[in-house]
Amino acid sequence: MSIPLVDLKAQYQSIQPEVDEAIQRVISNTSFIMGPEVAGFEAAFARYCGVKHALGVSSGTSALYLALLAYGIGAGDEVITTSFTFFATGEAISQVGARPVFVDIYPVTYNIDPQKIAAAITPYTKAIMPVHLYGQPADMDLINEIAGQHKLIVIEDAAQAHGSLYKERRAGSLADAACFSFYPSKNLGCYGDAGAVVTDDDEIAERVRLLRDHGRISKYEHAELGYGHRIDAIQTAVLGVKLPHLDDWNEARRQRAARYEELLADTPVITPKYLPETHPVFHCYVVRTPDRDAVVEHLQQAGIGVGVHYPIPLHLQPAYRFLELEPGSFPITEQMSHEVMSLPMYAEMTDAQQDEVVEAIKTVLAG
Ligand SMILES: *Cc1c(COP(=O)(O)O)cnc(C)c1O
Repeated sequence: MSIPLVDLKAQYQSIQPEVDEAIQRVISNTSFIMGPEVAGFEAAFARYCGVKHALGVSSGTSALYLALLAYGIGAGDEVITTSFTFFATGEAISQVGARPVFVDIYPVTYNIDPQKIAAAITPYTKAIMPVHLYGQPADMDLINEIAGQHKLIVIEDAAQAHGSLYKERRAGSLADAACFSFYPSKNLGCYGDAGAVVTDDDEIAERVRLLRDHGRISKYEHAELGYGHRIDAIQTAVLGVKLPHLDDWNEARRQRAARYEELLADTPVITPKYLPETHPVFHCYVVRTPDRDAVVEHLQQAGIGVGVHYPIPLHLQPAYRFLELEPGSFPITEQMSHEVMSLPMYAEMTDAQQDEVVEAIKTVLAG
């Protein structure tokens, strides 16, 4: 690949001394599990999101799982979400024993369409889980309003949206609780698996704190059955170095996005649109074109790292056959799954690299 989809090495090189020092510090003081590194990052990330509590956990997936459990969501319950997301969103809902109830997306933002939520609510509905897809917050005022009317919990899947804003408030502070992933390629990523649940709710924070660590209330005393879903201290040390850079990196992504927009203006490719009340962070830079698969293949042959997020919506995944949702159930989701492709996007990308991506697209489309 001459131009990768993301370049984690370029980012590491820009902060190498700080990262190496932080990792060495953890190794030297051997506080690998919980301890001051973890507490320090949790406090910093909670402050960054504008919430009271951040609980580090083992991945974004376990963050979703533990947040649902903390709210007591389980067998017999339904959780409304989008089918146009990474598999883990639905998976976590299913793993707690609840049923994911999908709603189609709003074609402009690719996020759950708030206008379609009310029709999906049943007496079994307990929560709504919007996903801030590609780094653009979902339409949270409308979602929270519907949730309020029906006394539903709202849990943000903010795994792609670290630092994004909705009406000047950060993703993570827009609902009852939010879940983040620090998977390496996320906007704030570590060097392995990690995630966090953030919330203003003291009781939910305490539940997650117990559940992530075997229900432990003291070294040898366990109040309930929990899980081994703690975050690694080494990962929080890396995240602690990266967090102060996040706003600059997100701004660099926005500038790349604006430049893509200009460079692609005279092509038939459809560039991202967003709600004026949001300030997205372009976890992915997603464009649309019919005949997507052929375009992706040509770009890959030209050495351009393109991705597809996501080619198979959750309701059409083999794992969800038991939901018995036929093709055509969510027409907008399905159309987008055939048309979207993600172009290379990272803060360290150069003008020359971006020009090369756009030239390759123009060459392919000229056919
Ligand atoms: C990455 C991601 C997750 C899962 O996070 P992991 O840390 O990989 O477990 C969940 N939801 C969305 C939308 C994601 O992008």
